[in-house]
Amino acid sequence: MKDKTIEDYVELLYDLEKEKGKVHTNDVANSLSINPASVTEIFQKLSKEGYIHYEKYIGVTLTSKGKKIAIETQEKHEKITEFLILLGVNKKIAQEDACEMEHFLHPSTMDIIIKFVEIVKNCNYTPFWLERLKEYVKTGNVPDCPPELYDACLKYADRKK
Ligand code: MN
Repeated sequence: MKDKTIEDYVELLYDLEKEKGKVHTNDVANSLSINPASVTEIFQKLSKEGYIHYEKYIGVTLTSKGKKIAIETQEKHEKITEFLILLGVNKKIAQEDACEMEHFLHPSTMDIIIKFVEIVKNCNYTPFWLERLKEYVKTGNVPDCPPELYDACLKYADRKK
C-alpha cells in the first residue's frame, strides 16, 4: 500500500477508535462510503504491515506503530490547514489540500510551515503583508507597500544587528 493510503487509513482509524473503542468494518465502510468487503481487505493489509491489531468480528485497534503515524499525520494536517487558512484559502479547500500535502512535504518544509503559523499567531494583529496579500487576492491589484511602516521595519532590522 502507498504511504498516502496507509496514512489516511490510520488517521481515520485513530478518530474512529477515539469515538468507539474497537473499530468495525462497517464503521469504516460508512465513513468512506465503500463496501465492507473492501474494508476487510484493507484491514488485512494494514494488519500484515503492523499498523493495526485485527480480530475478526471483534474489530481493530491501532498498534503503537499505527498510532504514531496517525498522530503525526493528523498534526501535519492541522498545521497545514492553519497555514493555508492564514494565506486566505477557504476552510474546505484548505482541509482537502492539507490531506494531500501532509503525505509528501519534506520535513524541513513542514518545520517552516509550523513555525510560520506559530509566529503569525504569536502577534496580536494580522501582519500588514498578510493584509496586503488578502487585498491583492480580492481586488487583483497589488496594494502599495505602506510607507509609514518602512521606518518601523528598518528599526526592527537594526534592533537585530
Ligand atoms: Mn491525507
